[in-house]
Amino acid sequence: MVTATESRIQCDVDIDAPGRQAGYLRAPLSRNTSGWGTVEIPIVSVKNGTGPTILFTGGVHGDEYEGQIAVSRLARNLDPAIVQGRVIMIPALNIPAVMNDTRLSPVDNRDMNRCFPGNPRGTFSEMLAHFVDALILPHVDVSVDLHTAGHSGDSALSTNMHYVADSALRARTMAAAAAFGAPYNVVFWGVDEGATLTSSVERRGILSLGTELGGWGRVNVEGVRIADRALQNILKHFEIIEGRPETTQRDGSPGTRHMMVRDAAGYSFAPAAGLFEPRNVVGDMCRAGDLAGLLHFVEDLDRPPIEVRYRLDGILWMSAGPGRVQRGDAVAVLMEDYDEARAAA
Ligand SMILES: [Zn+2]
Repeated sequence: MVTATESRIQCDVDIDAPGRQAGYLRAPLSRNTSGWGTVEIPIVSVKNGTGPTILFTGGVHGDEYEGQIAVSRLARNLDPAIVQGRVIMIPALNIPAVMNDTRLSPVDNRDMNRCFPGNPRGTFSEMLAHFVDALILPHVDVSVDLHTAGHSGDSALSTNMHYVADSALRARTMAAAAAFGAPYNVVFWGVDEGATLTSSVERRGILSLGTELGGWGRVNVEGVRIADRALQNILKHFEIIEGRPETTQRDGSPGTRHMMVRDAAGYSFAPAAGLFEPRNVVGDMCRAGDLAGLLHFVEDLDRPPIEVRYRLDGILWMSAGPGRVQRGDAVAVLMEDYDEARAAA
């Protein structure tokens, strides 16, 4: 049972109860027009028999749509009769950012995925992060948090995971990623580790998968298709529903390609603010020294574009855009094939 004793957020769903429990988290938000106002965050728990608990979250960032769509769809349709275990679904976790269509919350201008493990007396995003960390995660065996590159770029359709030191957990996580069935699974050495939902999940020893299923501020058609199939695949992989994961890719290849972002040279950064013209799309094979793109200064007739080049051989995982970038923004991230020996080095 989720209790509200440590949190200002009320949960009107009993996630320990069998069957489909659907309702809202109610988070207090005082506004000019409603001093006692609340924000309602949809939550659905489907429980039957015995088995592990899976948490599916979407909308930690408001402008990342594929997870919101896929988790909402599953939350509407999952039949408790076919479930062995429990599935907790929060499709639009950071609801102020979701309704505002932005990465950051308009309430406190915070990135919720930099607020973990949160604070029950902190800002709105910190309060929300605390609720998830302290009152949801202790019930969870597997967390799948669905993201995209939002408005800050595009991504090759992929799951991602940190290189966790525990080799057994790492192997279980890679197996879960393969069952998820995105074209790529990226093992990486974290950016901003410590404050993300993933880091909170990992601190508790829970299996954690993230995703990048699109970006550029639009709904990626293939990203939604992969996400819908992947949620079913994950439930099958952990034997919560019957069946075998279906992981054939659009190009006919049989499954997920394990990749890694190990080398700092995988990142190319903008050396100045400007209008970035990328030369590749995500999924392209790129070579060290190739042109990643041109940084244009269209406001200045006398200033030629700056060439930004790749620094190693790899497949383009993340691509900048759309359009204007700031100095220091990552404009390209390359991934290499996963190599256990190099990973462990
Ligand atoms: Zn995100």
